[in-house]
Amino acid sequence: MNNKVDDIFEKLIKPIPIEVKLRGLNTSVFGGFDSYILEWTNKLMIKTDSNEIKEIAQSLKFLFNDYKKVTIDDRQQKLRDSIKLVNQLSERIKGVKAFKLKQNKLVKIRAEDSNLTYNNPIDQQQRNQQQDLTVSDNTEVKKVETDSSDLWHQTIQYIKGVGEYWAKRLKKLGIESIKDLLYYFPRDYNDWSNCQQISRLSSGMKVTVQGRVVDINQIQPRKGLTIIKIGISDGTGVLYGVWFNQKYIKKGFTKGDYYLFSGEVKYSYGQFEINNPHYEELDSTEPLHTGKIVPVYPATKGVSQKRLRTVINNCLDKYLTDVPEFLPEEILNKYDLLAIKEALQLIHFPDSKEKLKQARKRLAYEELFVLQLGLALRKKEAKTDKLGIQHLADNELIEKFFDLLPFELTSAQQRAWTEIEADMEAKEQMNRLLQGDVGAGKTVIATLALLKTVQSGFQGGLMAPTEILAEQHYLGLKEELNPLGIKLGLLVGSLTNKEKEKLLARIKEGEIDIIIGTHALIQEGVNFSQLGLAIIDEQHRFGVKQRALLQEKGTNPDILVMTATPIPRTLALTVYGDLDLSVIDELPPGRKPVITEWRTAKARQRIYSFIRQEIEQGRQAYIVCPLVEESEKLDIRSATELAEYLEEEVFPDLEIGLLHGQIKSKAKEEIMEEFRLGEVDILVATTVIEVGVNVPNASIMVIEDAQRFGLAQLHQLRGRVGRGQYQSYCILIANPSTDEGQERMKIMTKSNDGFVIAEEDLQLRGPGEFFGTRQHGMPDLKVADILRDHKLLELAREDAFALVEQDQNLVQKKHQLLKQVLTEVFEYDFDLIDIS
Ligand code: ADP
Ligand code: MG
Repeated sequence: MNNKVDDIFEKLIKPIPIEVKLRGLNTSVFGGFDSYILEWTNKLMIKTDSNEIKEIAQSLKFLFNDYKKVTIDDRQQKLRDSIKLVNQLSERIKGVKAFKLKQNKLVKIRAEDSNLTYNNPIDQQQRNQQQDLTVSDNTEVKKVETDSSDLWHQTIQYIKGVGEYWAKRLKKLGIESIKDLLYYFPRDYNDWSNCQQISRLSSGMKVTVQGRVVDINQIQPRKGLTIIKIGISDGTGVLYGVWFNQKYIKKGFTKGDYYLFSGEVKYSYGQFEINNPHYEELDSTEPLHTGKIVPVYPATKGVSQKRLRTVINNCLDKYLTDVPEFLPEEILNKYDLLAIKEALQLIHFPDSKEKLKQARKRLAYEELFVLQLGLALRKKEAKTDKLGIQHLADNELIEKFFDLLPFELTSAQQRAWTEIEADMEAKEQMNRLLQGDVGAGKTVIATLALLKTVQSGFQGGLMAPTEILAEQHYLGLKEELNPLGIKLGLLVGSLTNKEKEKLLARIKEGEIDIIIGTHALIQEGVNFSQLGLAIIDEQHRFGVKQRALLQEKGTNPDILVMTATPIPRTLALTVYGDLDLSVIDELPPGRKPVITEWRTAKARQRIYSFIRQEIEQGRQAYIVCPLVEESEKLDIRSATELAEYLEEEVFPDLEIGLLHGQIKSKAKEEIMEEFRLGEVDILVATTVIEVGVNVPNASIMVIEDAQRFGLAQLHQLRGRVGRGQYQSYCILIANPSTDEGQERMKIMTKSNDGFVIAEEDLQLRGPGEFFGTRQHGMPDLKVADILRDHKLLELAREDAFALVEQDQNLVQKKHQLLKQVLTEVFEYDFDLIDIS
């Protein structure tokens, strides 16, 4: 019985968030939102036994009785009022509220959330504060928001030239709302603004010509080839537009019509021709596709450039006047930026290159500013709103650890540790990035932080990107920390179910102090008893999402992410813009820079005798084979074959180990252990050993087909050697066919400095390639280019951070629109605002 009521209630409330999103259009349900509510409130009243529920349902029904007849504003008020009733119903049926309003967006409350909201006094208190701030300015918020949201969320369907059919096709390009369409920027432009008389033409000119159609011709010089030639005359001569195998083109032309043709002119057999010209009939309206600088849009599968241009032009005509300016006036003035309306018009249809540049600048700034504002707010919020864990100043464990540590911290390590320690002892949550070149000694800092959290009675989690690395951390830490009585657990995908269950139970019970693992750590079902610190090693392998997931395993645990990928400053400002930064910019003493040489395959035998020499001195070597053709199988074969060859032909007297992704974890562990113990002399491997592996006795890294690797990867691989006191070598065997490939090899031999390499890499490859941007939670930049626009980026960052200093929650009236753009474009989550 109760189940039925529950189901009906679920159905009843289903369209409400959508109707809220549509801002009272009554279109969230086929047949009308009001009729739907009527029907389901009736059902609910019939099914329920509770008079209380009946009464509330009655009020709800009553509320929407005249929904159709009232103004949009009133409808929105009704929707707001209904939330209160729905939540009352929900509390009686489900025991918790159903909805909350998150910045103007109605969202369903998940069971976990509701606990958090109502049982946690700190949270509640903060929320109240938050509410007060916002509510004080409430009227203004509502007004402005409806204005612009309405426009930005409106469907494109009613734009001239769209309709249901094109709306569907445009949706495939990700265009649904007016905002999507206006922000669908050209990827390029054709400059057809050079209009010429036919008598002035010469071969190779890029021009636009206008004239009357005087000749329509179809020729079939051979089977399978049809040529359409349309001749236009402007009185000074005739120009032919030429199309191949596009018979339908002919239908569009009638003799006597006036047309514009644009393209590159060719002189052929006594005629001026343009192959596949851009063309447009000349009527009373201004031409869109020729005769000016014409936009070229990105991949428009199923929608022609012409259609898109027309639609965007119509959209600008109809809606541009309503587009609100959301950048603060001071900023527009400061950089002399175009107003949004002008910028949007000009980015699509620039009337000169100069204007286009200005439009780009405004939109690039806007994009970067919004991005940085989101980061600034996130950072500010983490600092002020999120109460974290206040770790104890007691350092007994750490002192014991230092007593056993065979080396002193370098001063860079010391500095990083001081910063981290201070963060951990503060009551705010730590969000810190620890950056240090490969081999700089980040692990020991991580260990100190883990000890600190254990000392304070919490658990620590350490997440590594590969099993080998997790395993290595586990073994290393176990050796160092077991004497201190600390219990460690290793959670990786390859555990049997039984082992896993047992481990999970012990983690949950708090029997394990430090849990080390791979992605397995952030999976559902992993519950910590009290997570105090979450560390992510080699962050460049993880995305923002994984960071968030790990953090959710506790209640605002301190977060430390570590990366060896030296991120150039401009990129760091975007990707890690919300984190505090500690840098270890010094290698432990006694390290000799790795000597890097670039050789071709011809030198192979000499390289092998060099390896032998080193091994006779007691050293060990890695030989890395790249991915071949992206195929795992081939990849393994090349490594396997190489290992066999070395074993049989070159080093029959030495121990060769083989490591690749398909080897079972247990076997992998054994091989790594043998290599660590020096029982294996040469380890042939695929890139599974790329990150973090630490065997200080290994002094040679040979990289086969090195041209196949990117700079960052090469540097990572090289970082596997030179980790002890021995002179180490990195030998790149490469025969690059491209200039870029050669350049990479040269850079590697020239520099050992990860930062230099990263800067070069960024220059060579561009930011998108350098860093899979998506997985890092960095929004795709549409206009801005962080290389080209790095100055603008820094300015935008300064402005954004200054603005947040001055108006932390963007409650000032003049920032309301900005706040809204932030939630919609950047999808930044403001704290909850409850309207009940
Ligand atoms: P990474 O920063 O690449 O993770 P690791 O933490 O693995 O580097 O450290 C590399 C090697 O340097 C390890 O063998 C480690 O024991 C050693 N090491 C770290 N710090 C120091 C130091 N201050 N003095 C001497 N050796 C150190
Ligand atoms: Mg490391």
